[in-house]
Amino acid sequence: HLDVIEQAEPSIHAFLQIAGEQAREQADAFDALSADDKQALPELAGVPIAIKDMIVTKGIETTAASKILQGWIPPYDATVIERLKAAHMPILGKTNLDEFAQGSSTEHSAYGPTRNPWDTARVPGGSGGGSASAVAAFEAPLALGTDTGGSIRQPGALTGTVGVKPTYGGVSRYGAIAMASSLDQIGPVTRTVLDSALLQEIIGGHDPKDSTSIPAPARPMAAAAREGATRDLKGMKVGLIKEIGGEGFQPGVEARFREAVAQLEAMGAEVVEVSCPHFPYALGAYYIIMPSEVSSNLARYDGMRYGLRVMPPAGVPQTAANMMAYTREAGFGDEVKRRIILGTYALSAGYYDAWYGSAQKVRTLIIEDFNRAFEQVDVLVSPTSPSTAFKFGEKMDDPMSMYMNDIATIPANLAGVPALSIPAGLSDDGLPTGIQFIAPQQRDEVMYKPAAALE
Ligand code: GLN
Repeated sequence: HLDVIEQAEPSIHAFLQIAGEQAREQADAFDALSADDKQALPELAGVPIAIKDMIVTKGIETTAASKILQGWIPPYDATVIERLKAAHMPILGKTNLDEFAQGSSTEHSAYGPTRNPWDTARVPGGSGGGSASAVAAFEAPLALGTDTGGSIRQPGALTGTVGVKPTYGGVSRYGAIAMASSLDQIGPVTRTVLDSALLQEIIGGHDPKDSTSIPAPARPMAAAAREGATRDLKGMKVGLIKEIGGEGFQPGVEARFREAVAQLEAMGAEVVEVSCPHFPYALGAYYIIMPSEVSSNLARYDGMRYGLRVMPPAGVPQTAANMMAYTREAGFGDEVKRRIILGTYALSAGYYDAWYGSAQKVRTLIIEDFNRAFEQVDVLVSPTSPSTAFKFGEKMDDPMSMYMNDIATIPANLAGVPALSIPAGLSDDGLPTGIQFIAPQQRDEVMYKPAAALE
């Protein structure tokens, strides 16, 4: 894989850091184990993995693709990294993303965009375009991403890879750089559904270092994926979400989605339409709640504790407040600044109830929509992304059209339910499309079965 990385990187730029030496040492350590020791490890033991640079790695520079963290070498590992190391999985390096995971195209990285291996004139989606492209270009067999509003699933759809956002609290966020803490979740990026299931079992399960971690072991996801591989879905009830699709969705994306649903039916699933009447308000609620949490979480980048520090120029008082202002002005990109300003406004006295309070009420209504839907069906399906991969620059001047990319993925984050995306075939433009499965909270295995059946 290190050889493939060397060949592919000049055209793809999926990686911000390549940890070749460390990865080789980890691979050698695995090789040196006895057969019995290897037998006792998880099935993915020894398989290398790439890590989104939103997750901290001891001794490997971690930047969240921001100038403000340039040069920061974490003194500790995220819990998910500790678990990968315990499973003897070599870490190939850190992958590119939109700065602080804010974006849908990876164009907001401070270190230049990642390209889509299907067409290098197009974006790989975002924010986790680096992890998705690394897996799609065979630079890494597995990767980790983070998903706050779709950053694992939408790049999965645009690059023809599998991407999973686990149940909120199902995978520890300890050592995941915080974007919007009530929405963030770490999850797998892989080429097969079974690989994602095996990987989620390794990284998942309770962690006392994350106060929102669910005190239960990881769900039996690999068994569900293997059951799905028999392609028998008799007895399973699948719900088509009425409110996702139609206007704004590329015809080729919808056509592949309908064909995928027909295949689920052919394998014995019963398919019904389900209404989630508040989903049209999800995007609006997300773009209030998320920036509010971003504005609070990113307050820690003050020039004191991590990475970049910019002193005020001569003639400007050399105060701590000025140092912070100059550091944040130089260290954050435009999209991050836009969200900090939006969030600060939404949380300010006098506006809090009108904006943040209302958005939280919408969030509750969306949770209730899911609850009602899951009284009727086992699993919900929708297209993952309204379009296939778009060209560089196409949406950069129009934040609203960039935000519209998340229309199908955001409801699952607001409700904390698990969701995954798998490839659904190529659209008429020859580019990959994705189908999304959504399961009830803490029942992640339920979505793995039909996904594996369809694969
Ligand atoms: N694209 C979405 C955003 O810009 C989602 C980001 C994410 O999931 N990290 O907020």
